[in-house]
Amino acid sequence: MQEKAVLSDKIKIVSEMAASVAHEIRNPLTSVRGFIQLMGAQGLEQEKKLFYQKISLEELERAQMIITDYLAIAKPEPEKIEKINLHDEVQYVVHVLQTFANYHEVQINVLLQENSMFMLGDRNKLRQSLINIGKNAIEAMSADGGVLSISLSKQKNDLVLTITDTGIGMTQEQISRLGTPYFSTKEKGTGLGTMVSFSLLRAMKGNINVASEVGRGTIFEISFPSTMTE
Ligand code: ADP
Ligand code: MG
Repeated sequence: MQEKAVLSDKIKIVSEMAASVAHEIRNPLTSVRGFIQLMGAQGLEQEKKLFYQKISLEELERAQMIITDYLAIAKPEPEKIEKINLHDEVQYVVHVLQTFANYHEVQINVLLQENSMFMLGDRNKLRQSLINIGKNAIEAMSADGGVLSISLSKQKNDLVLTITDTGIGMTQEQISRLGTPYFSTKEKGTGLGTMVSFSLLRAMKGNINVASEVGRGTIFEISFPSTMTE
């Protein structure tokens, strides 16, 4: 009886998920379809062609993003816990975010206290979570640029990572909704990135604190228990 209930719950979750994926992917696909049709018009100027192509690619990228976000929830990769050097992972993440930051005229400042900052966790999930948080920070500054500051320090037995932006900030109400599904203030947001990041980070014993002020910016502070070097 109990098992049956659990199974039908699962089916319910899967079908709800399928319905929302279908819904969210349909929008970008519909626009790509439209633009490809427009591109077929005779005597179309090269400039317009390039413009339609650009939007089509952006929309396809968005469809891909939705799939990635949903897959992270629906089919999580198995945990692979190992000793990782947070210092190196932060450098990796900064490297990945750099192009995105340049595009949005955001400057990245990095302050890493030590070279050895060991913790236990899943490297890929850690990277994915930090990239999500960093991208949101950059997107919060997309209107007129800004500074993304990333710092890492050891405090007692914790490794403390802060990701600070000078972007639009959040209200108290928005902060309280962070990490809940489908909360997005963006026209084309999935509202899933933060939820995935928070649950991955918490699974690695990460403790997350967010402080924000509308019009000033946001600070994400994530601390992990440090582990011995050897
Ligand atoms: P998405 O980025 O697709 O909107 P997320 O789950 O990544 O979804 O983020 C949810 C929402 O949290 C964002 O739409 C935004 O309103 C808010 N948010 C997250 N990070 C920041 C930030 N650094 N500054 C301002 N708002 C943020
Ligand atoms: Mg996001």
